[in-house]
Amino acid sequence: VTESETVAPAAQTDIIMANFDDTLQRARLAFASGKTRNVSFRRKQLENLLRCYEEHENEIISALEADLRRPKQESLIVETEFMKNDIKHILYHLDDWVKPEKPSKSFVNMLDDVQIFNDPFGVVLVIGAWNYPLQLLLVPVAAAIAAGNCVVLKPSEIAANCAKFIAETIPKYLDNECYPVICGGPTETNELLSQRFDYIFYTGSTRVGKIVHAAANKHLTPTTLELGGKRLSSSETVMFNHIYILFLYSPCYIDKSVELRTAVKRILWGKLINCGQTCIAPDYILCSKEMQDKFIAEAKDVLKEWYGDNIQNSPDLSRVINQNNFQRLLGLMKSGRIAVGGKFDASERFIEPTILVDVKPDDPIMEEEIFGPILPMYTVENAYDAIKFINSRESPLVLYIFTSESEVLNLFVNGTQSGGMCVNDTIMHYPVDALPFGGVGMSGMGSYHGKYGFDTFTHKKSCLGKNLALLGEKMASARYPPYSDAKSSL
Ligand code: NAD
Repeated sequence: VTESETVAPAAQTDIIMANFDDTLQRARLAFASGKTRNVSFRRKQLENLLRCYEEHENEIISALEADLRRPKQESLIVETEFMKNDIKHILYHLDDWVKPEKPSKSFVNMLDDVQIFNDPFGVVLVIGAWNYPLQLLLVPVAAAIAAGNCVVLKPSEIAANCAKFIAETIPKYLDNECYPVICGGPTETNELLSQRFDYIFYTGSTRVGKIVHAAANKHLTPTTLELGGKRLSSSETVMFNHIYILFLYSPCYIDKSVELRTAVKRILWGKLINCGQTCIAPDYILCSKEMQDKFIAEAKDVLKEWYGDNIQNSPDLSRVINQNNFQRLLGLMKSGRIAVGGKFDASERFIEPTILVDVKPDDPIMEEEIFGPILPMYTVENAYDAIKFINSRESPLVLYIFTSESEVLNLFVNGTQSGGMCVNDTIMHYPVDALPFGGVGMSGMGSYHGKYGFDTFTHKKSCLGKNLALLGEKMASARYPPYSDAKSSL
């Protein structure tokens, strides 16, 4: 592992804005000018962003390929199409969302105006992560624009080609005063965090999430934290001198009622897309011993069908982002016994899709974030056992359940806590606009997507409007002194 891979390569992006104060001051003035309150202005910015995605689709795909060797089809599904649909959805609903809400009134307020105004917070900071370097930054940014905020965009420096694209291209489409891009690594991020923002939206590791939360706390800045929520690797624990006992997320239970071939395909796709570097990738499988044997046989067959005899030669599998993570994953592969895969090649940061069995609950693979193409299986007797296992750990970001039995499903719905659930599929809950996406407990706080994103970046300003007519005043007069028992019984 070279030094340049462990230290954030801020200089690689070449586009660091040195003067944060100045940039922020300009964003503050732009917000104060009121231009982002204008819904036509917001609409125009969103349309420009959509045009940017359309006009630069090939560049986006190339940047993702350069950073992650991501296949084009995956980038289309999980990045560009997703971002385009997100903006189209916002544009379609924006006029409705911005309207003041008129909640139902009680008898006491019959004569009054009771309204909730959708106010922007002001200048917000959105910090993205490297694994989906475009959409994890730009989907919350679009929601913040829709809600009328100015936004400082901070892409992840680890996906350096995507960061360069964002810093060079996005400013050509968005108002530069309102939506500046700031690049850099931890140093620049910490400098940014020392400034006062009106809202901070962070996606990344739980370790940095705690840094962000502590910085936000100084100014009582509200935050949304979209986290991994897993235990730190031992090296990080030493480096930061903290001991966080956080556990593995997005478990996947399979019962005997499922059509196994389909289940295996959906689980493996969710695990292997972006080479397993997905916060909602299924982490580990919980199933019976009998199911485990059948799963492994099917998985071998499916992998051959998808990637051929020599998986390394297949163009359809991404690579691990850097040597740091590659070496970490090799360490995790030492847990349990390899039932499928196990090959690797450091020169390409290639790791074969690998299934591990005979793992123990306290093995590193079962306690640390995997973020790679390795799938451990842990056998349980039944759904009750699986629920007990899940509940002995922190709340998952997503809980995957594969079953055809509604009774089994209900046991999980009512007996577990998680950010979300997805039944008989993986990942596909993520792009559903109608569903809030977010974690609970150590997997995060707050949610977004669709209207939930708009609401996240909106302060709900309540307003009671009275008139000064005599009738109303007469009804209200009981509140004025001199107080008396007769008045209080009114
Ligand atoms: P990362 O290294 O790209 O860091 C994320 C951001 O934090 C970057 O912008 C980076 O500059 C900044 N940063 C890094 N170290 C910092 C420090 N010491 N101080 C201040 N800022 C710092 O990404 P990552 O953290 O490796 O991302 C992967 C993690 O993100 C995984 O844990 C994954 O589970 C999680 N994740 C969660 C979601 C979700 O929606 N819940 C989505 C994707 C990724």
